Amino acid sequence: MKAARPFDLAGKRAVLATMHGKEEVIGPVLEAGLGLSIEVPRPFDTDRFGTFSREVERKGSQLDAARAKLAAGLEASPEASVGIASEGSFGPHPNIPLLAVGKEIVVLHDLDTKLEIVGCHIDLSPNYDHMVVEDIPSALSFAKRVGFPAQGVVVIGIAGGVPIPSRYLTKRIDNEEHLVDSVGEALKACGAAHLETDMRAHRNPTRMLSIKRAAEDLLNRYRRRCPACSRPGLAVGRRVFGLPCAWCGEPTLALKAEIETCAGCGLSLEHPAPSSTAEPGECPQCNP
Ligand SMILES: [Zn+2]
Ligand SMILES: [Zn+2]
Repeated sequence: MKAARPFDLAGKRAVLATMHGKEEVIGPVLEAGLGLSIEVPRPFDTDRFGTFSREVERKGSQLDAARAKLAAGLEASPEASVGIASEGSFGPHPNIPLLAVGKEIVVLHDLDTKLEIVGCHIDLSPNYDHMVVEDIPSALSFAKRVGFPAQGVVVIGIAGGVPIPSRYLTKRIDNEEHLVDSVGEALKACGAAHLETDMRAHRNPTRMLSIKRAAEDLLNRYRRRCPACSRPGLAVGRRVFGLPCAWCGEPTLALKAEIETCAGCGLSLEHPAPSSTAEPGECPQCNP
């Protein structure tokens, strides 16, 4: 039998900090890929780290929130030595108007070695949508458009044109009858209702798939091991530009090399760009 390499996770007990069924997609990927045995603490509340429906604001960055969940998971399961958590964020695309973008991260932390690996997936077509309605038929057409009831819909009250969960909030809507009742209640209380896609993983099948992709990315990153110390997670930390121009030899804006660095031993591996010269079109001298 092959001796275990440093940072191997096979046979370790891991805790996945989720209350929204993420074990369905993260579990199989990381159990098969890393040999972990993954459990979910029950009961476990992750809403205190922030909710998409605005009752609890997320503190800090997406990674901060994932790490906080992960630490709480390890606290709830003292027999586990590996923590796993995921966090999503959704919003308008920073550069492309009207396009929504979702970012999922899955974080793994090994208490024994302090190894942390973060997997990521960017989704350019998340099921992330909202609409303000003033009648039931508009609410039903929104629900149909986003794929309700397989995709969840959240109804939030409105004040001053802004969704205010303290005015009205219902997340547990499983069927059309319940949706009609909820929208009716919100309209009665606020005159209008803010409807949005439920972004909780177990009520958003598109998101569940993105979380799986982020777990697969985590696995791929883990498998990039440092050739010197065997630590997983070797990653491109720096890109060097200035590939010489094929005509004049002056440095251009084109990529010259990627530098992978090891967070453990500091090893730095340089990968030169496939071509040793840049197109004159990329040269500020030849093509000003
Ligand atoms: Zn040139
Ligand atoms: Zn190393």
